[in-house]
Amino acid sequence: MKLIVLMVAAATAVAGAPPAARADEPVAAASAGDEAALHLEWMDRSVDPLQDFYRYANGGFMRANPIPPAYSAWGAAQILDQKNQDYIRELLQSAAANAAAARGSDEQKIGDFYASGMDEAGVEKAGIAPLRDEFKRIAALRRSSKLTAELARLQHIGVDAAFGIGQMQDYADSTRVIAVVEQGGLGLPDRDYYLKDDPKYAAIRKAYEEHIARMLVLLGEAQSRVSSAAAGVMALETRLAAASMPVEDQRNPHAIYNMRELAALAHEAPAIDWRRYLKASGVPQVTRLNLAMPKFFAALSHEMQSTPIAVWRDYLRWQLAHRYAAYLPDAYVQENFRLAQAVRGTKELLPRWRRVLRAEDGAIGFAVGHEYVKHHFPPEARAQVLEILHGIRAALRDDLKALPWMSEATRARALEKLALMEERIGYPDSWRDYSRLEIDRGPYVLNVLRANAFDDTRELAKIGKPLDRSEWGMVPQTINAYYGRSMNNINFPAGILQPPYFDPTVPAAFNYGAIGSIIGHEITHGFDDHGSQFDGHGNLENWWSKEDSDKFQAGVGCIAEQFSGYTVDGDMHLKGRLVTGESIADLGGLLLALRAYHASPGYAAAQDIGGFTPEQQFFLGFAHAWGENVRPEQARMWAAADPHPPNDDRVNGTLTNVAQFAEAFGGTSAAGRCVIW
Ligand SMILES: [Zn+2]
Repeated sequence: MKLIVLMVAAATAVAGAPPAARADEPVAAASAGDEAALHLEWMDRSVDPLQDFYRYANGGFMRANPIPPAYSAWGAAQILDQKNQDYIRELLQSAAANAAAARGSDEQKIGDFYASGMDEAGVEKAGIAPLRDEFKRIAALRRSSKLTAELARLQHIGVDAAFGIGQMQDYADSTRVIAVVEQGGLGLPDRDYYLKDDPKYAAIRKAYEEHIARMLVLLGEAQSRVSSAAAGVMALETRLAAASMPVEDQRNPHAIYNMRELAALAHEAPAIDWRRYLKASGVPQVTRLNLAMPKFFAALSHEMQSTPIAVWRDYLRWQLAHRYAAYLPDAYVQENFRLAQAVRGTKELLPRWRRVLRAEDGAIGFAVGHEYVKHHFPPEARAQVLEILHGIRAALRDDLKALPWMSEATRARALEKLALMEERIGYPDSWRDYSRLEIDRGPYVLNVLRANAFDDTRELAKIGKPLDRSEWGMVPQTINAYYGRSMNNINFPAGILQPPYFDPTVPAAFNYGAIGSIIGHEITHGFDDHGSQFDGHGNLENWWSKEDSDKFQAGVGCIAEQFSGYTVDGDMHLKGRLVTGESIADLGGLLLALRAYHASPGYAAAQDIGGFTPEQQFFLGFAHAWGENVRPEQARMWAAADPHPPNDDRVNGTLTNVAQFAEAFGGTSAAGRCVIW
């Protein structure tokens, strides 16, 4: 019933009804719509909101939305993503059906990529042949000295061969773009999967090694040697894992910023012929780079000299197959899926079209996004989101001005950083140029391969050139947002500006609670444990006085300890130091959104809805954005390597530190809260 009211309103808006027609709508219809925004059916009011607000707000939703077999987690984000994909599918299908699209145009590429991916018979018929040259080169490797060039080639086409090269803004001078090499080469999600003495990890290790063996069989390896080959690959990856820097240590920007001249590289990692490597990677002019993880590269160099070349051949074949299996015939796709089952707990493959669509988003996502926003991002949405955003910026400005513990010198730098923070909503001003990327009707796997190579070339071409500030790190259809640390910008793709994150038709409380707290989250990243080490121009610079920094660090330590206490899948603790930045951003974001809501015209006009006060509505809007079910395997994977805490902790853990929440639901403010801002 309530849904129908909303749908009629939406249809009227699309038909372009004059404003007068809306003013005539009976008041009762509007408040029914408001009540629908509460989503009473998502709640579980048998739960005490002060004990477990996440379940209080989302218990009904979680019961009504079990995880579909093809997913490892299912909630508001995934449901919206699925709807988004349904919509994008139509764009891709119509592009594919348009035989008149000009050769080389984005429309031709969008259509051909999709058509090549959906051409299952063509994929089966082509078999592994499109990758024959890649496998041949690996098979011909006879000497360790030839490894350097082969690693560069495989990395160029997107294979995670031992390590990776890329570009970054120089931490010391953010206007400069430098080369960076980083650890990599692991087929499992994190080093813990290789190293932890834990029965669940051990089971995954066993499944992984068996999977490598079966993949080698598919590639034509003799049965008699696949087990030993897989064991050799596993042992090599395990040694690389042991030398890898843990994810939580990578959050220290000083630890991953180690500028080196070529001479020093030759000393620290002599088995890599650096000059040849950089030439093969298309950047022969580079003479200085950031060796992000020195210990890893020293160990890798040792492995390149001491591990038999036959093991390296197996490893590289495996990594190549691993990277491309999803775009090969069904036997590879199924085998690839078996690993996903073990690692993420997924029960079924996604429908083919959803897999192709995801691949296409990765390959030519800005071309797809360009079409998407033409039809899917009304200017009114942008204006309303901007209004919320500006309210939140103002709230932080006021907060920084009033913070009692901060010295004037630090305060001035913080305000400067906020003033310099650039805001970007929806999509880029200029669109990515794909004219040098060839996409055709197949083989599918070669479309993916060329797109990877194109992207690598495009990225590395930035090194040594003036910084281009116009690029986005997410395609417009993405249901997510980010803070660019070196750019000092906040970015909200069109994809996330939809319900349940943002809905222009609901009372302000829900929008401030949901998209408002997300906007506040991204802004706060500029001032979290990590972002606060960078200045307003994106340079790694300590702009804090010692005393202010100590006070801030005490808050950071409080958050790290709080979140270390949370567990997933029964016994696995979160890595407090890994999730600190996201947790600080959640807390800061929610407080800023609440402050901005209180200062907004929407709050001045707010009423109780269904017995809930405006503040209660705000907190419900916040919690509703995060409702989801997660498979235990997926929960463990995220806890191992993802800087975001699980959604229930993002809600309950954050609210523990918010006095206004307890007050809104009739509780008393408990002592021992963590205070950051
Ligand atoms: Zn974040």
